[in-house]
Amino acid sequence: MSGGKARSSPASGDGGATTDRRAARHDAASELAAEPGEPIWQYAPAPESRDVVSIEPEYGLFVAGRFAPAADGRTFATINPATEEPLAQVAAAGQADVDAAVTAARTAYEQVWQPMPGSERAKYLYRIARQLQERAREFAVLESLDNGKPIKESRDVDIPLAAAHFFYYAGWADKLEHAGFGPDPRPLGVAGQVIPWNFPLLMAAWKLAPALAAGNTCVLKPAETTPLTALLLAQVCQEAGLPPGVVNVLTGAGDTGAALVSHPGVNKVAFTGSTEVGKEIARAVAGTDKKLTLELGGKAANIVFDDAPVEQAIEGIVNGIFFNQGHVCCAGSRLLVQESVADIVVERLQRRLATLRLGDPLDKNTDIGAINSRQQLDKINELTRVGEAEGAERWSPPCQLPEKGYWFAPTVFTGVSQSHRIAREEIFGPVLSVLTFRTPDEAVVKANNTPYGLSAGIWTDKGSRILWLAQKLRAGVVWANTYNRFDPASPFGGYQESGYGREGGRHGLAAYLHV
Ligand code: NDP
Repeated sequence: MSGGKARSSPASGDGGATTDRRAARHDAASELAAEPGEPIWQYAPAPESRDVVSIEPEYGLFVAGRFAPAADGRTFATINPATEEPLAQVAAAGQADVDAAVTAARTAYEQVWQPMPGSERAKYLYRIARQLQERAREFAVLESLDNGKPIKESRDVDIPLAAAHFFYYAGWADKLEHAGFGPDPRPLGVAGQVIPWNFPLLMAAWKLAPALAAGNTCVLKPAETTPLTALLLAQVCQEAGLPPGVVNVLTGAGDTGAALVSHPGVNKVAFTGSTEVGKEIARAVAGTDKKLTLELGGKAANIVFDDAPVEQAIEGIVNGIFFNQGHVCCAGSRLLVQESVADIVVERLQRRLATLRLGDPLDKNTDIGAINSRQQLDKINELTRVGEAEGAERWSPPCQLPEKGYWFAPTVFTGVSQSHRIAREEIFGPVLSVLTFRTPDEAVVKANNTPYGLSAGIWTDKGSRILWLAQKLRAGVVWANTYNRFDPASPFGGYQESGYGREGGRHGLAAYLHV
């Protein structure tokens, strides 16, 4: 077997014995998974080929239908978080580039896109959707390289859902007058859209597809650590013959995003990311006539009752918090489990976690990929240290962490109380806090005891309890006997510090129309 050096590591991610990475990883998992007397078997490596993507050494900004360097020539590196290998240098947009992109978007809005019949706009969106499907493997590999997420997630979730959003909103483009927003709903103009690094292409699709369908033009700012699939999407827009200036992509850091959202030529701001930056943006937009939607953080309760089907609930808990390394705004990061079944749920959960495979994101067997950046890893390490210091009990399965790159073992905290920081703050990593409750009323109080309000999960056999609880939970999305299910037709968004406005479905159109 081949592979890099590995760290035999506790959850903290500190160093340890050096062993063969893949062999060690699989041995640990299979030994733990096997019952005494059961045969121990291993997964052979199944790496997806990188050959399907060709990464340029340098990327420019996509403005007015062309790629060009930043006006002041600044660039930054984007790296593969699983190996720390530099992937490309990417242009860093400054104020002059933001001006140029907003001007290009305004011209395209007035001269081409807004006057165009919806049925014609739809054709471009369908073309983009089909291109995403045709080039799905290329997008999936590129996403996993730049983000660190397992290929099976980028291949089966991110890319198909991104294509589905373009298909879905293409269908609305010529039916806006039937959407319930009046006989002639008007677009807003130029949309400035800032997205995070956890679902780079999918968030770009969530932002672009409804905006374009409604007749707006866009300036999109992808996250600094994951610009590559947005740039490939820009190429797709070019190849689809999208009129120049309808979509512009400005790569850069937070200052680029700040310049975009405060640009006077922008009519609509859409942001997904941290609550802290969301508040800054709300302040920047306050007092202007810009329309704003914010999709921010979360600290969702995943509530398991004693009548829930335990094995299904375990899968839902795992999917809720360990999908995408826990880099999910709606992650079920607080498990609320009924006291009478807490021991069995935790025991079975630990057993299941021991079978998860952490490692090379391009390996098709990998369940847990790399943490997206050093900065994010530091944050996870800090908050989990606080969890221990505050008295919660920490557990991770034995797990080999590769020596290079940013890695964090799946971690479960038990004995968590509501005042602990790990129960209150968004960790945005593969870390679950387990709390218990005795009665349904107590579950409601504990679930709602958060400044956030993005999502929640309910696991129970009783339909009436699901309906009762869904009414009581202050969360934009409530999943019942499932978790982290997304559909372009379904609205998504939060309450309180999770932001405002809805994306997806018919509601998602309203955010881009004068309604
Ligand atoms: P940010 O909120 O900082 O980043 C989101 C996007 O906003 C990025 O494109 C970022 O650029 C950009 N940005 C940063 N500052 C500004 C600004 N002042 N004005 C406009 N745009 C700005 O998230 P981080 O990546 O820094 O992650 C920090 C924490 O936020 C995470 O640990 C996690 O807890 C949370 N988070 C939550 C997400 C969610 O969906 N709920 C998504 C991402 C993060 P750049 O990439 O250069 O920073």
